[in-house]
Amino acid sequence: MALTFDEARACVLREAGVSMGTETVLLAEADGRVLAEEIAADRDYPPFPRSARDGFAVRSADLPGEMRVIGEVRAGEAFTGAVTAGEAVEIMTGAPLPDGADAVVMVEHTERHGERVSIPRSIVAGENFSPLGIEARAGNAVIEAGIRIGYAEVALLATVGHTQVLVHQRPRVAIIATGDEIVDFDQHPAPHQIRNSNAASLAVQVQRAGGTPEILGIARDNYESTRAQIQLGLEADLLLLSGGVSAGKYDLVEKVLAEFGARFFFDRVKIQPGQPLVFGKVEDKIFFGLPGNPGSTMITFETIARAAIEKAQGLRDPALPLLRARLTGPVRHKPGLTRFLPAVLSADGATIAPMVSHGSGDVAALARCNAFLVTDPDRECWAAGEDIRVLVK
Ligand code: AMP
Ligand code: MG
Repeated sequence: MALTFDEARACVLREAGVSMGTETVLLAEADGRVLAEEIAADRDYPPFPRSARDGFAVRSADLPGEMRVIGEVRAGEAFTGAVTAGEAVEIMTGAPLPDGADAVVMVEHTERHGERVSIPRSIVAGENFSPLGIEARAGNAVIEAGIRIGYAEVALLATVGHTQVLVHQRPRVAIIATGDEIVDFDQHPAPHQIRNSNAASLAVQVQRAGGTPEILGIARDNYESTRAQIQLGLEADLLLLSGGVSAGKYDLVEKVLAEFGARFFFDRVKIQPGQPLVFGKVEDKIFFGLPGNPGSTMITFETIARAAIEKAQGLRDPALPLLRARLTGPVRHKPGLTRFLPAVLSADGATIAPMVSHGSGDVAALARCNAFLVTDPDRECWAAGEDIRVLVK
């Protein structure tokens, strides 16, 4: 049964679940990992009313007017006195607002005369400082489990004093290339042979998805070899196969998986490249049979299989953001499929240029492009200047 692209992705998101346990890692190693605990604020943030400007802490009711400057407070200091009527305290960005003050006037809006400062304009209470606890209250959650940790999340963990963090373990993802024509990429191929580039690209994609790639041996196009490699592959947390899922006489992957008791959720998706994509489970173990053309393998992993690896490690909402850009030239395709076509996206992301590519085996074109333009299955042509969806490589 052939699914549309959206149906296939939805099916994977539905069937894939969290399968990995947790481990504690140091903050310096947390980038890219999926948070497995809710993080709470250890105190109020900001922990004191914090000035957002260099200027003068004042009572808004006194303005406009001339104030007596009773002291100074710098970031990292606490002012011991209080601001009373007609008084101001010189204050720096990041310093705590002194008691009695209810606003900060920017230094640019003041004129200093020795012990006095004149402020010609009025100000609203609350201006130019962040009240205590406005960002987070002590004990309240600041981020929830299931998000991927990046630089801002690391900053938050550091802010609240987490030197370690609980994350999901990385899934081990077995990668099996199939085909009698394939040789390891460090081997010299005979004229009728090709190097195993799919294992190389998949290993990178798996790593970027947060998994640990395990490249297994090449399964030859016979039952014994395919069976032996799949048996090994099923020991990992997830299994990816490339090739051997088309309708050819020697495409044995589905047949062998069926012998292992596989349940198949789909074995055809209306996309190009990658139509004969297979998704299923042996017991609870997820596998994908990715079509072997390098472009098919890359695209089907990126747009559909990656979500399962992300869910396995607890990511709550695997995303596939498609941007929009203006075409520099026309695009025409035969409707019915969602196509991912190599293209060049301008540096500012505004325009996209379709690229000449010689099919889904054209690895050189795949390496030269920096994006794929994404066709709608129910539309036939786009003129230059029209917007089209874009998947960034
Ligand atoms: P298949 O899906 O097995 O019919 O393979 C389709 C095409 O992709 C064939 O031209 C293969 O030679 C090529 N191909 C299959 N597996 C790989 C691989 N691991 N690395 C590079 N190309 C491959
Ligand atoms: Mg093959």
